[in-house]
Amino acid sequence: MIIVNEKKNSNQIEKEDELFIPPIPPPNKKSQIQFDETELSKEQLESVKQLDLNKYHPILVKCEQCNKNKVIPIPIKKVQNIDSREILIAYLHQNKETHEIHCIIFEIDHQFNVYFPKATDVLMNLSSLNDAEKLEKANYKIRTIFVLCDICRKTLQIQVPEKIQKRIKESHLPKIPLCYIHTDEKGNEPHCLVVFIDKNYGDRNRRLADILIFE
Ligand SMILES: [Zn+2]
Ligand SMILES: [Zn+2]
Repeated sequence: MIIVNEKKNSNQIEKEDELFIPPIPPPNKKSQIQFDETELSKEQLESVKQLDLNKYHPILVKCEQCNKNKVIPIPIKKVQNIDSREILIAYLHQNKETHEIHCIIFEIDHQFNVYFPKATDVLMNLSSLNDAEKLEKANYKIRTIFVLCDICRKTLQIQVPEKIQKRIKESHLPKIPLCYIHTDEKGNEPHCLVVFIDKNYGDRNRRLADILIFE
C-alpha cells in the first residue's frame, strides 16, 4: 500500500512539474564548437575565433554548390525564441569562384544538429513591374509564379528567370526549392520564403525560413 501511495505522490509531483513554467528563461549556455576545427581553412578558423560564442553557435555545413564547407554562425537567442522543434535556416552567400549568389537551406534542432542541407537558387525582390519589364526587355523568358507570404500577408509574384527554369527542368528532385528573399512594403527585415516547385510549376509548397543569415 505504501508503495502505491508513494507512486501516486510522485505522479502528482510530476504533474505539477509539468505545469510549472519558469518565469525567467534559463541563462544562455555558452555555445560549444561541435566540429573538428582542422576541417577549417585559416580564414574560417579566424572568423570562428572572432565570433562571440555567447551570441552565436558556429556550425559547419557543406554547400554542394560551392563544393566547400561553410561556417555558419547561428544566432542563439533567435533559436531559443522559436518554439518549433525544427528550425528552418537560410544562409545566403556567394560562390567565391563563380560569384554566383545562392542559399543553403537546412533545418536545425535546439541542440544545433543539422538536417537536410540543400543548396538552392535564390531570387531577390524582382517582383516589381519595373524589374519585370527590364528583364523582359533583356529577352529573358520569365515564368511568373504566385505564392502567398505570411509575413507580407499577400500573394507575391515571383519571376523565375530562364536560367533557373533550366535548373528546375534538369534537377533530379521531384520538387525543387527556390529561395525568394524580399522585404515587404513597410520596409521590415528581409525574409526568405522557400518555395518548392515541381517541374510543371503546378504544386507549390512553401515555407518561411525561421532565420535568414547573410554571409
Ligand atoms: Zn554555396
Ligand atoms: Zn514576405
